[in-house]
Amino acid sequence: MKASGVAAEVLIVGQGVAGTLLAWECERAGIPFRLAAGAEGAPAMVSRVAAGIINPVTGRRLVKSWRIDTALPLARAAYRGIESAWGVKVWREMRVRRIFRDERERRTGAEKTARGELAPYVVAAETDGLWIEGAARVDLPVLLAAAQEHWMRSGCWLRETIDLEAETARHDLVVDCRGLAGALDPLWAPVPWEFSKGETLELAVANLPADVIRNSGHWLLPVGEGAAWCGATHTPGVVEATPSADARKTLEDSAAQLLGGQSCAITGHTAGVRVNLPDRHPVAGRHPRVARLGLLNGLGAKGALLAPMLARQWINHLTEGVPFDAAIDVARFVTTHR
Ligand SMILES: Cc1cc2nc3c(=O)[nH]c(=O)nc-3n(C[C@H](O)[C@H](O)[C@H](O)COP(=O)(O)OP(=O)(O)OC[C@H]3O[C@@H](n4cnc5c(N)ncnc54)[C@H](O)[C@@H]3O)c2cc1C
Repeated sequence: MKASGVAAEVLIVGQGVAGTLLAWECERAGIPFRLAAGAEGAPAMVSRVAAGIINPVTGRRLVKSWRIDTALPLARAAYRGIESAWGVKVWREMRVRRIFRDERERRTGAEKTARGELAPYVVAAETDGLWIEGAARVDLPVLLAAAQEHWMRSGCWLRETIDLEAETARHDLVVDCRGLAGALDPLWAPVPWEFSKGETLELAVANLPADVIRNSGHWLLPVGEGAAWCGATHTPGVVEATPSADARKTLEDSAAQLLGGQSCAITGHTAGVRVNLPDRHPVAGRHPRVARLGLLNGLGAKGALLAPMLARQWINHLTEGVPFDAAIDVARFVTTHR
């Protein structure tokens, strides 16, 4: 920490999955920190509505998730470490049953598996779909609550809405993990943020296998005895997290299809806003003009997978002065902007 001139205490602003994992890695590295979670009425937190799915192979064109071979072992180690340190259950190994939507998907699945392109996560395709191994679900609501309890006890957790500019003047390092609120702040104006509203239905449904996520356009995730979530929609450019009737209807239809006629009842409907970058990589690093201000954001639809890897990059930077990965560094936008 001293090598790069970083101060005694890091102020982490925002306690979604990004801020939580950064605080966890700081604690493990012996870096003093405080974690500010926002007071009553602080901007909404998308980590509370996220399903926490980690899926190694995604999209219409069946591609491996970006940096999956590095990010997945780091995620597994971090969440399992949290489980044993705090005595909570947050990590569940799962499989994804990907059901082909049409002939094009079926052909893509057959060709890619024949070439071994999706190994080790997919080894063979069948006529109607394929199995994706190595998936997981991170129980984000449990993780966030356990983190709050743990760091409240040690006095590191603050229920405060932080004024970034004021605190940056008072701290040697403030890391902005505010998600949507950070992306809407002119402080980060050179970053070409993009937004996508997402919605999920909560369902009461019996007898689903506990370790299988069904996926065909939308996913169906078992979340406990007699309960499942179905999601998520993507509405680009929308920053209001209000559940809509259109998304409810779309997800109701998808749930019926994924359940193959099995009955279910809707018990809840949630919405949130994802923060993305045009290259679909997350963003971390120091502010181009204010070195005391850092960033960890842009986790898109993959916060559970990416937050542990980005938190590790911050720690490597703070303890050994390692530069941020160029594909992640906020500097990539500053250069483009000039
Ligand atoms: C419907 C839906 C489903 C999703 N499903 C998945 C999924 O299955 N798997 C997956 O990996 N990802 C999923 N995501 C994406 C995931 O939610 C995000 O990648 C992730 O939660 C982003 O986390 P974050 O910590 O960056 O932001 P947030 O969770 O939004 O956290 C930011 C925090 O900062 C706080 N804050 C804001 N301003 C201040 C301030 N001034 N002072 C102090 N605190 C402040 C906020 O209150 C909030 O708590 C989903 C998203 C949606 C919308």
